[in-house]
Amino acid sequence: MNSALRKAYLAAMQIEAWSRREVAPADAPAVTDAPAVTDAPTAATVADWATLERLVAECRRCALCETRSRTVFGVGDRRANWFIVGEAPGADEDRQGEPFVGRAGQLLNSMLRAIGLAREQVFIANVQKCRPPRNRDPLASEAAECLPYLRRQIELVAPKILLIVGRIGAQNLLGTDAPIAQLRGRVHRLGAGGPPVVVTYHPGYLLRTPADKRKAWEDLKFAREVATRG
Ligand code: URA
Repeated sequence: MNSALRKAYLAAMQIEAWSRREVAPADAPAVTDAPAVTDAPTAATVADWATLERLVAECRRCALCETRSRTVFGVGDRRANWFIVGEAPGADEDRQGEPFVGRAGQLLNSMLRAIGLAREQVFIANVQKCRPPRNRDPLASEAAECLPYLRRQIELVAPKILLIVGRIGAQNLLGTDAPIAQLRGRVHRLGAGGPPVVVTYHPGYLLRTPADKRKAWEDLKFAREVATRG
């Protein structure tokens, strides 16, 4: 991507300029090992794409099924190098059945473009496949019921990198209650042999706190570096 184009994308994120950041050395150890996946084998843990889509569409494992309009399975290239993990559908996503289609989605698209990725080139899915009422945080029990779907999606895509946007996705998938400030800037691992994981701010948070967009940009560059290490 040429620099004029990159500047245009950064402008879309409302970041005026950027400077090179020292990334962790290529052989830096993964500092967090997420707990190994301990789900007992279920239909979801062995499903192919079609089965998984059906399981999610028909899911009644938690009470969110009572209030959802549509489940939000995930979208994108099923052989993508990049897998983006969000939190839960909002009102727009619940209506359209697709993740990140509202304002936060527009910003996510800009963030991806800033590192040379079109939305269609990545796979995007949430921890929670159904909208929590009034956009509250998912309960731990709701996330626990839903996580096997996301874990299976990650296995099926087998991405080179997982970029988690936001605290809810990070804490649930990495099995931690550490705040996002402690989780960003380092490489986590999703189980033995799983993809490297980088955490950054949720675009919805960045819309409310634009001053942190610069840190998000640092995270994106770090993630790109981790992805190209292979
Ligand atoms: N926020 C998310 O985390 N996911 C969506 O799909 C939309 C907003």
